[in-house]
Amino acid sequence: MDISYILDDLNEVQRDAVTEELPYSLVLAGAGSGKTKVITHKVAWLSKVKDINPLSLLTVTFTNKAAKEMRGRIESILGEQLNQMWCGTFHGLFHRMLKMHWDEAGLAKSFSILDGDDQNRVIKRVIKKMNLDEATWQPRQTQWFINKQKDEGRRIAKLPNKATYVEEKMADIYLEYQKTCEEEGVVDFAEILLRCYEMLNKNPELLSHYQKRFQHILVDEFQDTNEIQYLLLKQLVGKDGHITVVGDDDQSIYSWRGAKSSNINRFIKDFKGVRTLKLEQNYRSTTNILAAANAVIRNNPERLGKELWTEKEEGELIKVYRAFNERDEAKFIVDIIKSWVDEGRSLSECAIIYRSNAQSRILEDSILRAELPYRIYGGVRFYERLEIKNALSYAKLAIDNENDAAFERIINVPSRGIGAKTMDQIRELARENSFSLWNAAEKLSENSGPKVSNALKEFFSVVNRISKIASNKEIEEFFEKLVDLSGLKEFHGKEPGEKGRSRVENLEELVSAAAGFFSIGEDADDERSQLELFLDQASLDAGENQAKENEDAIQMMTLHSSKGLEYPLVFVAGCEEGLFPHKRSVEDPRQLAEERRLCYVGMTRAMERLYLTYAEVRNVFGVDGFSPASRFLKEIPEEFKYEIRMASENISQSKSFSPKIVGGTDHKVGGFALGDRVGHPSFGEGVILNYEGDGSNARVQVNFDTEGTKWLVLSFAKLDKIS
Ligand code: ATP
Ligand code: MG
Repeated sequence: MDISYILDDLNEVQRDAVTEELPYSLVLAGAGSGKTKVITHKVAWLSKVKDINPLSLLTVTFTNKAAKEMRGRIESILGEQLNQMWCGTFHGLFHRMLKMHWDEAGLAKSFSILDGDDQNRVIKRVIKKMNLDEATWQPRQTQWFINKQKDEGRRIAKLPNKATYVEEKMADIYLEYQKTCEEEGVVDFAEILLRCYEMLNKNPELLSHYQKRFQHILVDEFQDTNEIQYLLLKQLVGKDGHITVVGDDDQSIYSWRGAKSSNINRFIKDFKGVRTLKLEQNYRSTTNILAAANAVIRNNPERLGKELWTEKEEGELIKVYRAFNERDEAKFIVDIIKSWVDEGRSLSECAIIYRSNAQSRILEDSILRAELPYRIYGGVRFYERLEIKNALSYAKLAIDNENDAAFERIINVPSRGIGAKTMDQIRELARENSFSLWNAAEKLSENSGPKVSNALKEFFSVVNRISKIASNKEIEEFFEKLVDLSGLKEFHGKEPGEKGRSRVENLEELVSAAAGFFSIGEDADDERSQLELFLDQASLDAGENQAKENEDAIQMMTLHSSKGLEYPLVFVAGCEEGLFPHKRSVEDPRQLAEERRLCYVGMTRAMERLYLTYAEVRNVFGVDGFSPASRFLKEIPEEFKYEIRMASENISQSKSFSPKIVGGTDHKVGGFALGDRVGHPSFGEGVILNYEGDGSNARVQVNFDTEGTKWLVLSFAKLDKIS
């Protein structure tokens, strides 16, 4: 049989790794060195040359997108479609195993998965049932605690002895929560893995069946495995199994979720006689990109240490773009993508990568305006995010009490003790009397006990307070107040870890969105208020369908979800101190090191061109903040980068303005130039920072001395130039 096609396009070490006969191997290597390629080709090798049925291989990776690409690569080498193959994420694969062995796992046949939000709801119910106070035993905190125990493979009996009072209590909740899940036949994410592990432990026959069946286990992104995943792998390999793991300690970015890059050293200890291979040639990126990424990661202490080289051409310098503000940054990125397309390249070759979810909003905005299709991976579009929908629902209900959909959404968010029963009564009343839910609730509050009545009155009062400011405040200030008054900011802020952080950031971003809002094509006959216009625009943006999986579209994702992927053109946006590295990470050297690994991951996604962008001024929570460029940018030696200071040839240079602006022409808009000092009837005096559009659409951004920055449509705003 001609098997050359499996080995031909591999280098010597990769070939070694693929054909290695020893039971255990570890490939430890930097980004783009072909680790994933080793895995896919090894699957092909084992099945075509070693005659192992592909269904007897277990191939695991980290994200759904990576798993999908991996399966695609394997199928294309093997030349056949293998739907049955065990190739997927840990959760996907072990869920499948539980579904096949629900009985042995002690589950109902029809058991279902609880996602994060469902899990939170169950925990709340449990806390209530135990007569505990939600303010002390915060559901999000408890949820995090429970998942952490499960990720570490711990049941209640195994909690460490010296637990504090709080932990003991949490353990009680954990116990009660678990009982509830059992009764209701539901399984949370962490439970899937722990349950499988326990099932196999308790059931030697079943374990031995799977140990024999999975003749070879292959693991990609091994550096990000957590405790229970490691235990599962070890268990399934058993005494006679084979396992190949590939990973890169420099790309370990999930420690906040319990991942342990120390699993790499543990693997070497646990699997005696392991063959360790190092790949050192990078096949993905140009010399410049690689050198820059290497220079950044070199600043991390405690690396296992490895250097990468490439035969690729030097390539272009890395472009560092300093934008005036986040809007300018987004516009710059869109402009570059447009010219990329003009060069005959495709949109799907472009990835915009950012540290925090909230950054996507302004980028989406620019992309939507440019009418380009885009897709967000591992996340939801801004206006479809839970916390944003919640906030918008408060606004909608505040301007229109009869908005039932908004009412339903937020009546008990944050939770104020209005349960399903009360909600049923409200719906019933509404139906009977053809009332809106709001009116029905008013009626109910008059005729019910103090508990329900008070809870409802509290709700009315919150919404009424928001209504009041809706009519007399600028929309920016309105949303700023709304996120506090509604309790949403506090509520979401209590969710631990990245998730809570990201939700609060999104809410703050909503305020910034309001601050930067201007409606295009304002019509004199249009009687909608700014707020209504804003809400309608948000609904429209949310309604725009995400580009289809295979449609040629810009790829957008957080740094965390970019792992393992590669794109010819990559933007890493928001490279500012405080944002990236994130402000909560800069104090702690370990967290800072993880941020730097994220940076390494981001930069090494790029094949041909890499842009790192940052904004001098970024509007967060309606306030303009000034941050210096990320330290990671400074860690890139001068010879590999090129600083672009002005993107647009339209933007003029003004002597009176800060000398940071270089280049550009003397173009003026509406008689104004950047840096001009202007006066406005209600906002006072300020300086023109930026502008976009022309003709009747032209608008300028002015930094007012007392009111902060605002975007104004020139044809409406009564601006005067002050000499
Ligand atoms: P990451 O750490 O980012 O996950 P990786 O080590 O898994 O990267 P791969 O994605 O497997 O790297 O490979 C990077 C790119 O290099 C891919 O486009 C792959 O096809 C190519 N490549 C890998 N090895 C070779 C080789 N020997 N010859 C030519 N191209 C190669
Ligand atoms: Mg990979």
